[in-house]
Amino acid sequence: MIPRSLPAGIDTEIAIVGGGLSGTIAATVLGRSGYRVTLIDRYPVFPHEFRVEKIAGDQIEKLRRIGLLDRLSASAVAFDEIVNIRNGRILDRTQARHYGIFYEDLVNAMRAELPETVRFIAGRVNGLEAGADRQRVSILGQGDVTARLLVLATGMGDILKRDLGIGRRFVHQRQSLTFGFNLRPVGASAFRHPALTYYGQRVTDGIDYLNFFPAADVTRANLFVFREHNDPWVKALREHPRETLIDTLPGLVKTFGDFEVIDKVESWLTDITVAQNCVRDGVVLIGDAYQTSCPAAGTGVSRLLTDVEQLCTVHVPQWMASPGMASAKIATFYADPVKQAMDAHGLHLAQFRRSLTIQNDLRWRARRQLHFSRRRILHGINAISPTFAARLRGLKRPAAEPAT
Ligand SMILES: Cc1cc2nc3c(=O)[nH]c(=O)nc-3n(C[C@H](O)[C@H](O)[C@H](O)COP(=O)(O)OP(=O)(O)OC[C@H]3O[C@@H](n4cnc5c(N)ncnc54)[C@H](O)[C@@H]3O)c2cc1C
Repeated sequence: MIPRSLPAGIDTEIAIVGGGLSGTIAATVLGRSGYRVTLIDRYPVFPHEFRVEKIAGDQIEKLRRIGLLDRLSASAVAFDEIVNIRNGRILDRTQARHYGIFYEDLVNAMRAELPETVRFIAGRVNGLEAGADRQRVSILGQGDVTARLLVLATGMGDILKRDLGIGRRFVHQRQSLTFGFNLRPVGASAFRHPALTYYGQRVTDGIDYLNFFPAADVTRANLFVFREHNDPWVKALREHPRETLIDTLPGLVKTFGDFEVIDKVESWLTDITVAQNCVRDGVVLIGDAYQTSCPAAGTGVSRLLTDVEQLCTVHVPQWMASPGMASAKIATFYADPVKQAMDAHGLHLAQFRRSLTIQNDLRWRARRQLHFSRRRILHGINAISPTFAARLRGLKRPAAEPAT
């Protein structure tokens, strides 16, 4: 379904600015609950952006609960096993459903689920006013939308937030670098494994892991690195990705097969930030607009789905049941224990992945050794007794492991 564009100058119950993943899913959930929702985004069709490309773990269960999993599975490539390699040897295998999908396909698939009752306006928002009763959204060249509640789902940009006096706190500037590129096999018709995670070998390499997985009609690579953006290695990777990877991860070709990078290497430098001063009359922030996530930790989508679920199913029904939208109502969302736990987990996992990859003091060397040994041993036990291995896994969740 193509989103409906209507002229602005309208009054609505809930205006959502930002039709990326979080804004689109929030609009769907609220629209399905019967609220009059207007969703505004710069793009009538979401364009190519380098963001999440693999959906897994709790994200799948959350999408199922929200009623959007069928749309995801119809639009993405499903796969059920990832072979995990370290130092050229199999560490273990992740046996669970994963979906590979480019971000634009993901957002556009979710937009196709917007109920008929949700108005979609394609336009650039260039002004916001928020108050205890009415909110006003100005759209460049298209007039204003007024609403009882304003949801800001504008991602990492902060111009609109600043307009409302909302700032951001840097938890970690230049936390990590993420690279994405497409490959094809050389000297064979297919790679040895449809999906593979190759962990970094040396602390000095700063590589957390490299994922290969199917997405659309290609094999996609996501590489998560803790290095400075101006590091000569980064330049070498952009210019000669195959040679640089083979040089840094010598066991790669043996375990995965030889490959050719078929187009441009995309990259993204992530700052971890949290919104500040956001308890305001009339406006609530979700997704990256509230807190960004380290891509290596794989928590961005879990976070935004938690925001959407808690906001749309717990808080909005309470807020809308009585007059006004003063900051005391909005504060309950940021104080929500489920949201707070997820946000804290995102920050913790970001720091954990970074330390596990690059910290070289005695404590982290021991922790790294324990982390990977535990996985290797569990894998060995699993080969003999899957039931016993599952029981051992259940004793304590693997320390902060993303669904790689
Ligand atoms: C390289 C990379 C890799 C990642 N990998 C993973 C991963 O493996 N796993 C994971 O869980 N997470 C990952 N993430 C995080 C995840 O992609 C994000 O958390 C998620 O995409 C955020 O969605 P959002 O809707 O909050 O923001 P966005 O998708 O950025 O949406 C913001 C929307 O706001 C709109 N907008 C902004 N300003 C205006 C305006 N003035 N007027 C109108 N519209 C406006 C934009 O057009 C856009 O559509 C990754 C992120 C990056 C950068």
